[in-house]
Amino acid sequence: MPPPTDTEACQAALGSQGEFIVDVHTHHVIPSGAWTQNAPETVNLVLSMLPAGCTDSPQLDCVDRATYLHDVFLASDTTVAMLTDVPNSGATNAPIPFPEAVKTQQITAGLTAGGAGRLLVENIIAPNVGPLAATLDEMSAAAETGEVAAFKVYTAWSPSGQGFSLEDPTVGLPTVQHAHDLGIKVFVAHKGLPLVNFDPVNNHPEDMVAVSRQFPDMNFVIYHAAWDPSRVEGPYDPSAAIGIDSLLAALDRHQVPPDDNVWVDVATVWRQLLTQPDQAAHALGKLLKRVGQQRVLWGTDAIWFGSPQPQIAAMRAFQITPEFQDLYQYPPLTDSVKAGIFGLNAAQLFGIDPTAVRCGLTADPLTSNIDETAMLARDGAILSPWTPNGPTTRRQVLHWLASATTQWAPM
Ligand SMILES: [Zn+2]
Repeated sequence: MPPPTDTEACQAALGSQGEFIVDVHTHHVIPSGAWTQNAPETVNLVLSMLPAGCTDSPQLDCVDRATYLHDVFLASDTTVAMLTDVPNSGATNAPIPFPEAVKTQQITAGLTAGGAGRLLVENIIAPNVGPLAATLDEMSAAAETGEVAAFKVYTAWSPSGQGFSLEDPTVGLPTVQHAHDLGIKVFVAHKGLPLVNFDPVNNHPEDMVAVSRQFPDMNFVIYHAAWDPSRVEGPYDPSAAIGIDSLLAALDRHQVPPDDNVWVDVATVWRQLLTQPDQAAHALGKLLKRVGQQRVLWGTDAIWFGSPQPQIAAMRAFQITPEFQDLYQYPPLTDSVKAGIFGLNAAQLFGIDPTAVRCGLTADPLTSNIDETAMLARDGAILSPWTPNGPTTRRQVLHWLASATTQWAPM
């Protein structure tokens, strides 16, 4: 393993195109969990987002832990991922109860060289479901594990369809205050992209932007940037009730400057817009210009719909045209802007040292698998550099996981 100070050797060892990719928004499920009995609407939501060609039986195995590790860390250039979850109010109905998320993190850590943490976990909370005190206790218990990178809420969700506001002094504010007091300074909310049982009033990003003014030493991440598939993204229109413009208008109303403590991720936004270059350029251009070039985070919503690699490849190729730069004052997507979006912005948010993680990866079995693939491709042993030399089917990945601890842990 090269020393962390030898940046060049570390970059060469990465084997990909050298980006440091932090995917702040990824999913898997526990197919045998209690949620499959207790939350039929959530099961239907997940079934609607399975990768094309899923033939597993039960189908939820297509988005299980083993498939996740394969799709994110073997079949893509993702360096670090954040594991999140869909709307839930705790262990009885969560596709990944928090202890299971921590278990995925531990399994990943067991396959990684010392010091190179590749998986972060979020704790999803629903302070509007049941007594608030129970949620605050749950937050304290989760924080005690030392593994909570962020708390996440769905302000627009509850089983009854009633959401809540982060500014509500009986629900939202004490929750943010508690996260603050526990020292978990990244607070995430899903905004936009309406899901099942969503309350449109509380899906607006206004409350999160307002609360950011009250907690200047915290960071607020607006998942999906309030994007709504029912609105076509164009030049900024401050009167828009939904979509990215509703977020930008809230930033204006609350006088939040660019590159402040409000962040966005592009999960699902990018996957949906990457085939529509004008909308994609407006969406990215507006976010970079107003939220800030250092505040836009890479997120993919993998492994819904499969590996994130196609989204990575599309972002590498994408440009905002000089015409759009002139007309709308959007910044060009230079290599350094893309490096920020792909991972350096998230590294700053979560206090990750990209150089140390990169160097750790060179001795990491997850990554050495990718290196070997490239070697085999050069030798002509396999056809495509993207054909993984390693476990590809779910069964093979399970076998690989079972053997990994003894084979690789001492490295
Ligand atoms: Zn998601």
